[in-house]
Amino acid sequence: MEASLEVLRESFKNGRTRSYEWRIKQLSSLIQFIHDKENTIFEALYQDLGKHPVEIFRDEVGIVLKSANNALSSLHKWMAPKKKPLPLLFFPAKGEVLSEPFGLVLIISSWNFPLSLSLDPLIGAISAGNTAVLKPSEYAPVFSSFLVATLPLYLDDKAIKVVEGGADVSEQLLQYKWDKIFFTGSPRVARIVSSAAAKHLTPVTLELGGKCPAIFDYSSVHSNMKVAAKRIVGGKWGPCAGQACIGIDYVLVEDKFASELIESLKRILKKFYGENSKNSTSIARIVNDKNVERISNLLKDPKVAASIVHGGSMDKEKLFIEPTILLNPPLYADIMTEEIFGPLLPIITLNKIEESIEFINARPKPLALYAFTGDETLKKRILYETSSGSVTFNDTMVQFVCDSLPFGGVGQSGSGSYHGKYSFDTFSHEKAVMQRSFLIELEPRYPPWNDFKLKFIRLAYRYDYFGLALLLLGLKK
Ligand code: NAD
Repeated sequence: MEASLEVLRESFKNGRTRSYEWRIKQLSSLIQFIHDKENTIFEALYQDLGKHPVEIFRDEVGIVLKSANNALSSLHKWMAPKKKPLPLLFFPAKGEVLSEPFGLVLIISSWNFPLSLSLDPLIGAISAGNTAVLKPSEYAPVFSSFLVATLPLYLDDKAIKVVEGGADVSEQLLQYKWDKIFFTGSPRVARIVSSAAAKHLTPVTLELGGKCPAIFDYSSVHSNMKVAAKRIVGGKWGPCAGQACIGIDYVLVEDKFASELIESLKRILKKFYGENSKNSTSIARIVNDKNVERISNLLKDPKVAASIVHGGSMDKEKLFIEPTILLNPPLYADIMTEEIFGPLLPIITLNKIEESIEFINARPKPLALYAFTGDETLKKRILYETSSGSVTFNDTMVQFVCDSLPFGGVGQSGSGSYHGKYSFDTFSHEKAVMQRSFLIELEPRYPPWNDFKLKFIRLAYRYDYFGLALLLLGLKK
């Protein structure tokens, strides 16, 4: 490992990855890799997660192609130094912000979107001119082996390395000094990553998860009930059978409308996955035994089991858990205190939908907050009285696909963001550059101090538009 890292460090030191041409070549090769290997990717992700090719293209292949193409066409603009205005007092001077790569970066990713969670950050690292080590998750082993074997055939192996392995390999990697760490995973492991990074004061981006709520304000959206229900089903069971960081974790609805919501969700579930969802190829499987066990344990509490109003069956051998709806499971139970990350959907009822703000604020800040409402006052309250990585009104998941919006969490759901230009920024240091001339010297900035100099500096900081006049005055004294 040490020898491989030394090659990458040397590549960065000698400037190999800094040029525009190198970055363009890597991004183009990445696109070529996806085009050449699309079928192998479909096969690997089917084996690891039982995902359908359409789902894989929608959530992974298409996302990565879009990101890489966006980076290709925007890179010139992103790399260009950004001119900044300076106080007139320093005239003549030039100010700009220059984005420079950090150096050698480590990307540790999760298994639920094995392709996009690995390659999307890598696109940011390459665009910004870094060398990188990528460690995909061991929980998607077919994809991980494929990536280790194939990606080096396309990308510069003196600058980009893929390392296969689990927690032990990850822990070993974290012993080294990195210039930036980008981590996608659980808050538990994020603490391990952060403390390893702290030893070297390495900056970290943490893309974590948590419980993402959906507020369902029936009174203001009931005329669009069918579309809303489709979007809730799509945002719960659509991506990776609920094993998604931005998937809906639970729904908040007024008591009197809960049964209508549940009936609508049931109708859409049947439409999407048929009478027996176990036979459907349109819903992914649970990643492994360990997670089937973890999710089924969430239903063990007798009061939780009694709250099931739809589904609840499972075939552990086939890694299948039926889309399950629960009505008011106890709030103290694990299903309401832990991230579900699976196909179970609690519906929690309130007297007034406005109470959802207090409900959400009593829990850790979510990665995504969804609200189905047409009520502008409620929208404003959600925006200004709650905190979350993102807020999406009247839809689910779609914010993830918009490169112009930053994707990331806040508090326990993460820190930092990426996607589009934000990926470039996440892997860059913004260096402030100021160029002065020797033409003019401002004497009041230097000792010996006197009253005039204090007045001068006071005015100079306060009124920049006097800068030029002050400058002339300052020259005289
Ligand atoms: P995880 O934290 O168990 O694993 C993530 C990565 O960390 C894997 O590559 C794993 O090998 C590595 N790892 C595991 N134990 C480690 C250790 N002790 N030291 C160092 N590295 C270690 O998470 P997971 O099971 O892959 O994913 C589930 C979590 O990730 C959920 O909380 C989910 O919400 C979150 N997630 C977030 C996003 C996002 O984009 N914000 C995306 C996917 C998943």
